[in-house]
Amino acid sequence: MIKENLHKILEVLPSTVKLVVVSKFRPIEQLVEVHETGQRDFAENRVQELFDKYKKLPKDILWHMIGHLQSNKVKYIAPFIHLIHSLDSIELADEINKQAIKNGRTIRVLLQFHVAKEESKFGFNPEDSQNIARQVSSFSNIEVSGIMGMATLTDDNNLIRKEFEQLKTIFDALKNTVGKDNPAFDTLSMGMSSDFKIAAEAGSNLVRIGSLVFE
Ligand SMILES: *Cc1c(COP(=O)(O)O)cnc(C)c1O
Repeated sequence: MIKENLHKILEVLPSTVKLVVVSKFRPIEQLVEVHETGQRDFAENRVQELFDKYKKLPKDILWHMIGHLQSNKVKYIAPFIHLIHSLDSIELADEINKQAIKNGRTIRVLLQFHVAKEESKFGFNPEDSQNIARQVSSFSNIEVSGIMGMATLTDDNNLIRKEFEQLKTIFDALKNTVGKDNPAFDTLSMGMSSDFKIAAEAGSNLVRIGSLVFE
């Protein structure tokens, strides 16, 4: 089932778009099954679960943190995290930088922007994007690799498309400023199970897909 689901997704996903499998709440055996297909990028939204799975699973997995991250938990994932998608405050960046220095590494992050209609979603205000990107880029041991965002949970595909286009506009603008000195600024993380096709059409180059893989 999982292997067929993955196959179906990869069949329709343009080759320029990376698939990150969102494995939150799924048992280890199911992650093993995904790993057996050659998939190496996995995402979790809670530190404890991410850390437990990291310990139990093969070390060639690239772990992505996609959920809201509290500063006091950064230390658990700092030694191995591949990419933090959910950077949403300068205080958090400061802590990530400290932990990166402690671990003698550079940690890659995406700036999360809030474009959805829902109040509850985390992320920076798009209006502050240049200022925020400049500030985060100044940390010695953080590499700003791009941006992440989520569309409103709605059946209104036009609204979803508009929000993804807004994220693409932010991404392009930042590419022309902070991206000028930083060729690693290359990731536009947007799209989930319900909206990844719209996201890909709007310019996403990384989709985060859970339910479609496991259900
Ligand atoms: C859960 C989650 C996803 C995946 O959602 P699905 O609908 O299961 O594909 C993607 N991004 C974030 C930030 C999530 O929390």
